Amino acid sequence: PPGSLSDKNVYDWSSEEEEPDGRARPVQVLLVKDDHTFELDEAALSRILLAEEVRDREVVAISVAGAFRKGKSFLMDFMLRYMYNHASEDWLGNADEPLTGFSWRGGSERETTGIQIWSEVFLVDKPDGRKVAVLLMDTQGTFDSQSTLRDSATVFALSTMISSMQVYNISQNVQEDDLQHLQLFTEYGRLAMEETFLKPFQSMIFLVRDWSFPYEFPYGQEGGMKFLEKRLKISENQHEELQNVRKHIHSCFTNISCFLMPHPGLKVATNPHFDGRIKEIDGEFINNLKVLVPWLLSPRNIDVKEINGSKITCRGLVEYFKAYIKIYQG
Ligand code: GDP
Ligand code: MG
Repeated sequence: PPGSLSDKNVYDWSSEEEEPDGRARPVQVLLVKDDHTFELDEAALSRILLAEEVRDREVVAISVAGAFRKGKSFLMDFMLRYMYNHASEDWLGNADEPLTGFSWRGGSERETTGIQIWSEVFLVDKPDGRKVAVLLMDTQGTFDSQSTLRDSATVFALSTMISSMQVYNISQNVQEDDLQHLQLFTEYGRLAMEETFLKPFQSMIFLVRDWSFPYEFPYGQEGGMKFLEKRLKISENQHEELQNVRKHIHSCFTNISCFLMPHPGLKVATNPHFDGRIKEIDGEFINNLKVLVPWLLSPRNIDVKEINGSKITCRGLVEYFKAYIKIYQG
């Protein structure tokens, strides 16, 4: 196969108290508190990214961002499954296996705003022979009131600044307010960064969930691109504001793409006892998941994080994370 994932568990739990069973898990590294201040868990971030096996490796940082309860963590768990099954053909595995990883069954938990990273950093061999470290980030935002919108903007900006690929998870369609939010969030990010002639961010993927117009634009990446081209098109007779949002988004990212996902079925959306097993998910969703996840994560498709044109290692990423958070704490 063109590159395989290392099965080595690179994470070394330093404190038994924190992780009694030694298994990988999501770790909250950034937390937005009730008083809207930000708390970075530097110790946790360092434990994960400064582990000997990964700290000097170039890092691929993949983030999924967007409003609450739109299936982000659910998707991340499939991404984990792909990583743990070494990008193999049958990475989806057993149809009866419950889905685990980031917590995705909403409802009972208190909603936090912030960034979680997976405690295990994956070592992946790129087809060109380089071994890179892959970090998965799950972010949470609320987007519902003015005060939380500012918190969410900061979380979104930070996760965009430190990731090489940001997956913007949105429900049903790309609405004008999704674009406005993206403009606000990336403007937050851009202001905090050094001026450069390069575009400040790398890849932006619009991931539209529950897409229900496949007869207009088919599911998947090609349909997504055609749809997005239409949504992001700038024309003379558009209101200036609409034009500016579009220009701004084009100016921020080196790559912009879109993927249209079908609805996963009623069991996923409404059954409180659903545990993530594939058997109970709509076939159309699974078929597209089989395309989406390798498209995002296959060894040939993942890109190393660059800042101002330089490739960043895990160690470098920790430094940038600390520097960026200071700006927002300021
Ligand atoms: P998050 O807050 O964005 O991380 O959302 P979760 O991953 O926790 O999922 C919230 C709820 O949405 C859960 O009950 C999932 O079963 C359900 N869900 C997951 N994916 C989808 C999807 O693509 N469409 C719909 N309608 N529901 C989904
Ligand atoms: Mg979540």
